[in-house]
Amino acid sequence: MKMQGILASPLLLLCMMAYSGLSDATWFEDNQGIMGTNIHVELWSESAQQGQDATQAVMAEMQRINQLMSPYIESSELSQLNSRGSVSAVLVSKELFELISLSVELAKETDGAFDITFASVGYLYNYRENQKPKQGQIDNLLQAINYRHIKFNVDDYSIFFAHPNVKIDLGGIAKGHAVDNSIDILKQRGIKYALVTAGGDTKLLGDRLGKPWMVGIRDPRNKDKQAVVLPLADTGLSTSGDYERYFEQDGKRFHHILSPQTGTSANAVQSVSIIGQRSTLNDALSTAVFVLGVQKGMDLLNRTPGYDGIIVDNLRKMHYSNALMK
Ligand code: ADP
Ligand code: MG
Repeated sequence: MKMQGILASPLLLLCMMAYSGLSDATWFEDNQGIMGTNIHVELWSESAQQGQDATQAVMAEMQRINQLMSPYIESSELSQLNSRGSVSAVLVSKELFELISLSVELAKETDGAFDITFASVGYLYNYRENQKPKQGQIDNLLQAINYRHIKFNVDDYSIFFAHPNVKIDLGGIAKGHAVDNSIDILKQRGIKYALVTAGGDTKLLGDRLGKPWMVGIRDPRNKDKQAVVLPLADTGLSTSGDYERYFEQDGKRFHHILSPQTGTSANAVQSVSIIGQRSTLNDALSTAVFVLGVQKGMDLLNRTPGYDGIIVDNLRKMHYSNALMK
């Protein structure tokens, strides 16, 4: 066998010992289904114990955020807020309060393209069951989509919805937040090289032992093909696409990114990828730019320092924000 031939080389054996040799340093990897998506962790550690514990800690953080923010878990803080928030102010954790506040800031900065109250209509879609609301239902609830309905009391971390039909959903920002937290946890544990992915949100800690991480943006119409592969280190990349959760009816694609103005799927582009330091912002911006389309989306990115983007439009043409063209 070829392998034996290689291993038989004493020089190579010596090199291998010198490299990984007397320590247990190696790559650790895990995949789990959490938050309705695939969580992938890869990290380099000097010891098996540290490597396994660190991977576990990331998965535990994903579980924690899911329990806190999932709209599908009745006991989650988010569900509690949605069920009582328009009756009276609801006390929430500092973490949820701050993520909702940031979401509202982002709504302002994106001209309402990123708006977590999209869920006031959005909850009526079920992409797995091919279900969508009737136009009459959308018309009735459309007024409830408006981030200005969310009222904050920073003194006691309570939130009130100033409209009876408001629901919120953090599906466009929570995974980015989870990925940022995960990388912080790994840093605190002394990890220097890692990749954490939650669905479309990826963050990199360091590089891949002297080489960049190669992170792909998939072809929106072919899951086995990459549209582009980017060499990256110490940054984040988030992609929003119309292919993640969708069904087709009457020749139209109904997918999970909604225009807050119409309560129906945004259809100006096929995918948006954002590169920047903070995955929480990458995540929200990818959703926002998806809603805004090429022109307004690029304008937003070109006035947002530190955040760049690649848009695949409906004709499959790729557009790059200014800083990526340099
Ligand atoms: P994913 O990684 O789940 O594909 P995206 O970053 O593409 O996430 O965001 C899609 C999710 O964002 C939807 O599943 C929904 O929860 C939420 N969302 C959809 N439309 C909006 C919107 N206009 N503003 C804020 N959040 C949205
Ligand atoms: Mg997003």
